[in-house]
Amino acid sequence: MNKDRGLLIVLSGPSGVGKGTVRKAFMQDAEEVQYSISVTTRKPREGEVDGVDYFFKSHSEFEEMIENNKLLEYAQFVDNYYGTPVDYVEETLDSGRDVLLEIEVQGAKQVRNHFPEGAYIFLMPPSLTELRNRIVNRGTETDDVIDNRMGVAKEEIELIDQYDYIVENDQVELACERMRAIITAEHLRRDRIAHHYKNVSEV
Ligand code: 5GP
Repeated sequence: MNKDRGLLIVLSGPSGVGKGTVRKAFMQDAEEVQYSISVTTRKPREGEVDGVDYFFKSHSEFEEMIENNKLLEYAQFVDNYYGTPVDYVEETLDSGRDVLLEIEVQGAKQVRNHFPEGAYIFLMPPSLTELRNRIVNRGTETDDVIDNRMGVAKEEIELIDQYDYIVENDQVELACERMRAIITAEHLRRDRIAHHYKNVSEV
């Protein structure tokens, strides 16, 4: 019997909600899920490793990937490009393994056009006040920048109807547990597995 195609899982949500933190915690004990490493033009932060956290590229290298249709989706975010290499996603799904993308909302919208059958998860802050606190605690931004980020986050939250699931990020471990429950259920969907049972004969 051929192996079923893997499941595409898209984790998205407003900036500052903790997508990266939840994704890293989730991947620590998710042997059956492969994380799709994105390509970006942003400079590596301290401790980040090329080919582990991102594939770090120049602007022209990134634009070449766009022209050669090497990206499943891409978006511009705070002056940099971010994108998902298409070959890795297709090959991994074809091999029967699940793939997790952790991307911002514009990219998630593009992916949905190609993969309507994926599982789209929106990571939600417990409240807007909590989101503001997280953005404030994260860095040294001025009040103006923080207000601007909050404005963007509110617009991003309005895209929630494009998702199948809402996972609140009140605690990272609880958010991971909810993601695991979603993935388990997605693998039991009738439309994914009914064909295995249709020709069952009595022995
Ligand atoms: P950071 O620079 O903090 O690593 O990421 C900034 C934002 O880009 C985050 O919201 C992250 O989820 C998003 N991001 C990371 N990789 C991709 C990608 O391949 N495509 C898109 N559209 N967004 C991405």
